[in-house]
Amino acid sequence: MTQHRDKSGFETRAIHAGYEPDPTTGAVNPPIFATSTYKQDGVGGLRGGYEYSRSGNPTRTALEGALAAVEEGERGFAFASGLAAEDTVLRALTKPGDHVVIPDDAYGGTFRLVDKVAKPWGLDHTPAPVDDVAAVAEAIQPGRTRLVWVETPTNPLLTIADVSAVASLCHASGALLVVDNTFASPYLQQPLALGADIVVHSTTKYVGGHSDVVGGAVVVRDLELAEAIGFHQNAMGGVAGPFDAFLTHRGLKTLAVRMERHCDNAERIVEFLSGDPRVAEVIYPGLAAHPGHQVATRQMRRYGGMVSFRVAGGESQALAVCDRAQVFTLGESLGGVESLIEHPGRMTHASVAGTDLEVPADLVRLSVGIETAEDLVADLDRALG
Ligand code: PLP
Repeated sequence: MTQHRDKSGFETRAIHAGYEPDPTTGAVNPPIFATSTYKQDGVGGLRGGYEYSRSGNPTRTALEGALAAVEEGERGFAFASGLAAEDTVLRALTKPGDHVVIPDDAYGGTFRLVDKVAKPWGLDHTPAPVDDVAAVAEAIQPGRTRLVWVETPTNPLLTIADVSAVASLCHASGALLVVDNTFASPYLQQPLALGADIVVHSTTKYVGGHSDVVGGAVVVRDLELAEAIGFHQNAMGGVAGPFDAFLTHRGLKTLAVRMERHCDNAERIVEFLSGDPRVAEVIYPGLAAHPGHQVATRQMRRYGGMVSFRVAGGESQALAVCDRAQVFTLGESLGGVESLIEHPGRMTHASVAGTDLEVPADLVRLSVGIETAEDLVADLDRALG
């Protein structure tokens, strides 16, 4: 079925798209095809098009079909990590001499890839605040800007980009819009339906959902873009292996119920932190005072499981909160069933220190898990000291 015309509900697509029960055994889950190569029926006689597992593997194919369906795209591609997915997009769609616009509070690894790997190779970039359409317009160099790269919500400041407005801007100037949908997950937001051209994910996060696998994804609607991404996926080779593809696909099936609980718990925590004098500022798109609240309400189903806050006592207190938390595990990453706490300035975003993308030193980021909400609130109360 043409994926974005599959009108069944999100949960149905997450559970069934991409795979039919195995015709020989009836297995309801895609087998893990632990094979690098495939027997040919005579030279060139490929069964189902499978030739070599960098080019294609049935476990990965099942995941890729499901990813396309939940993102309302036409083709999905699964990678070894989110950054492998991002690198493939950059190299498939830009060349030396081109220019890209990136968020001025991009995930540190994305910034490192663009600034330390792509820039020396000849790709120029300009950071812009993704919530300011006029500033994004100003950053675009017509004829030279190939991609506008947006995260929404951003990591870690949870800034909201208006995907439809930025898409119109890009298309008027001949650029493509890439949306990193990692923080929202496909359950809360489908950027392709809002006009974006390319969606990327770190599936390590909400899609996998259990902090047990690293992976990435690209989803597109346009078949020419799909051709370019598919060619580079094979030519560059950063593919998801069959074991990782299986785990990621298993996670995707429960994304909807997990996200509902992530959002419930995040809202409870935001309510608790918002009234607390030990907290200088709570950053959550669900708050009416958040500058992106209206846009988020329009383009997201709910506001997500990520919460950032600034600690009234400054950096030393922010570090102490991270150290004292017990139910919240001190660690990088996000989107798993367990709650995580981190200090972006010293951890996930250390690579942007000293640049325009530096994050506040008193900032703490929470990935709110799906544990009992009261335990999470009590843990933060204790950790705030
Ligand atoms: N995009 C965002 C928003 C992320 O938070 C991350 C990782 O933290 C990535 C991309 C990179 O993904 P990975 O770590 O799977 O390479």
